[in-house]
Amino acid sequence: MQADLICVGNELLTGLIENSNTGFLARRLWSAGIEVRESTVVADDWEAIRSALYRGLEKSEIIILTGGLGPTDDDMTREAVASILGLQLVLNREWLEKLQNMFSSRGIRMPENNRKQAMIIEGATLLENQNGTAPGSVVEKDGSLIIMLPGPPNEMGMMFDQSVLPLLTEYKGSKVSSVKTLKCCGIGESRLEEKIKSLGAWDLPPISYVAKGFEVHLQIKGKGNAEDAFASIEKAEKQLKSVLGDHIYGSDDDTLAGRVAELMIDNQMTLALAESCSGGLLSDMVTDIPGSSKFYKGGLVAYSGEVKTGKLGLDKDLLELEGEVSETTAKAMAEAAKAYFNSDMAVGITGIAGPGSNSSNKPAGLVYVAVSSNSGCQCKKLNLGGGRRIVKERSAQLALDMVRRIMLSVRL
Ligand code: ATP
Ligand code: MG
Repeated sequence: MQADLICVGNELLTGLIENSNTGFLARRLWSAGIEVRESTVVADDWEAIRSALYRGLEKSEIIILTGGLGPTDDDMTREAVASILGLQLVLNREWLEKLQNMFSSRGIRMPENNRKQAMIIEGATLLENQNGTAPGSVVEKDGSLIIMLPGPPNEMGMMFDQSVLPLLTEYKGSKVSSVKTLKCCGIGESRLEEKIKSLGAWDLPPISYVAKGFEVHLQIKGKGNAEDAFASIEKAEKQLKSVLGDHIYGSDDDTLAGRVAELMIDNQMTLALAESCSGGLLSDMVTDIPGSSKFYKGGLVAYSGEVKTGKLGLDKDLLELEGEVSETTAKAMAEAAKAYFNSDMAVGITGIAGPGSNSSNKPAGLVYVAVSSNSGCQCKKLNLGGGRRIVKERSAQLALDMVRRIMLSVRL
């Protein structure tokens, strides 16, 4: 089963807004075993929307449009879709009432143009919008499903997960193959392939490698009916786990930070951070996880030498002797954070984000990541390229992976 994606919006074509809806939808569809055949971005333009839809309907059974469901004149997705399908727009009184109540509860009169958002294509199913005023809708025509979702990613994403996914699962029945993504970290793509090849002839479902920064994702696509596909994926997963072991941290929607959180909470451990070159990015990643307050005690962005000595209590002479970017400093930062925040584990990150080298002529991209735990203090050195953002991201990811691996070894 194939899907076409059509993202509507002038702002996507001028580059003012980055098109994140396509990536989100493609990932979700892939996980649901639905292949995206074509993805288009079109302007808020009657003919552009119509021609993309027309093309999609010729080839794909599912068409998903995002954007252009708002109240203003440049929002014309539902009108364009109705015209291509030869259907009328009808007023959905329930949604109109809901809109009116929404406005009156805020003490404001509903502008007349918002009425447009209660107009639904005849025969369409309305999709609830928890985060906004534009409802989504789904209409089935001649064996195709046309799904209209609002443009704002938070509205679109929630609507897709809550209403569209269950509907697609029902609609596709057992026609498609199942898929699974195994997520690996701390190992490069080529080393990973070498390990997989050591298994010998691979008569299981094919695997695609997707390198994503510090991680490599292995996408497995099962073949045959749902039952066969599931069984072959299970077999492949078992084989892969036998050679990759702890390099696999999770699957599908799992994240590295989420996995660390799970381990921390399960083991009733606490974490603290002392970040220099990552500038608080690791703290941001950790606090993105719901429930992080259960294990994250706090962090300090010790960016300057003054804060490293003054707030973390690092030895000034040692700092001068070894340099701010050194294994000794990273370890001292981790140990100081562990003591300061009274945590079970703590991370220290120090490095040179670049583009220039620091005063001691150490190169840009040099980073030390240390993790202190009750079983000692470990440190790893990285030599990174790619600019400041990459340096920050990789350092934070390495720290998460080190914490994860220490926790796994402690558990064994
Ligand atoms: P609204 O009621 O907000 O007008 P809408 O369904 O009409 O909703 P649009 O007007 O197309 O949606 O988009 C509203 C905003 O949502 C855009 O300004 C943009 O910030 C965001 N947005 C729309 N499409 C995308 C996309 N493909 N990727 C990321 N953001 C998007
Ligand atoms: Mg709009």
